[in-house]
Amino acid sequence: MTDSYQRVLLKLSGEVFGGGSVGVDPLVVRGLAREIAEVVRRGTQVAIVVGGGNFFRGAELQKSGMDRSRADYMGMLGTVMNCLALQDFLEKEGVETRVQSAITMGQVAEPYIPRRAIRHLEKGRVVIFGAGAGMPYFSTDTVAAQRALEVHAEVILMGKQGVDGVYDADPNLDSDAVKFDRLSYDEFLTRGLKVADATSASLCRDNDIDMIVFNLSVEGNIARVVAGEKIGTTISR
Ligand code: UDP
Repeated sequence: MTDSYQRVLLKLSGEVFGGGSVGVDPLVVRGLAREIAEVVRRGTQVAIVVGGGNFFRGAELQKSGMDRSRADYMGMLGTVMNCLALQDFLEKEGVETRVQSAITMGQVAEPYIPRRAIRHLEKGRVVIFGAGAGMPYFSTDTVAAQRALEVHAEVILMGKQGVDGVYDADPNLDSDAVKFDRLSYDEFLTRGLKVADATSASLCRDNDIDMIVFNLSVEGNIARVVAGEKIGTTISR
């Protein structure tokens, strides 16, 4: 028997939304929404941080000559489009949702108000956090850690496109790469592993919250990981 989590922070990387290309693939988002609706119906409170890599990544635009901060703001705005798509499909599944944005845009989202976010969660609403931290030079992984801590989630569920956990080397480049079932944040940081960024890993380590890295591309994995099934890699202090 496994125990379901009561409140989770689910991080969805932007890559997933695009199904591997730029923009939003409605079929993929509908699939994600169905899985999330299922766990909400079973009673788990779900807060979500959405990435934006399917639109823009500030560091990549910087390499093409853009000012980093402006490029990062573009990246943050991209995450909001993913939020709206997810909100739409979740509501079609009958799940109440609120989008809270770290950059004020009253027509499409509430501002980020942590205490209100907690009230929404208590009422069974899914809260989707958009626009990252509202600050350049941060990543949505770091925001996932910060929001998880602030809304008192029990765990961060780091959903990745096509990656089923943390490996000791890049499994796409090295056929001998070995997957970890568990590892510590210190080991993760010392090895310079890339599946989450170092800022998010140190924030989680210092505040003692676990992160589970799992593959979103396998149908049913959201329900599995929320139910406490041992999939992916658990990173802990
Ligand atoms: N970003 C930012 N501050 C934040 C969160 C995101 O500047 O607090 C920008 C940054 O340019 C990043 C982009 O938004 O590259 C998209 O976010 P991220 O790369 O974390 O998305 P993911 O890789 O999860 O799809």
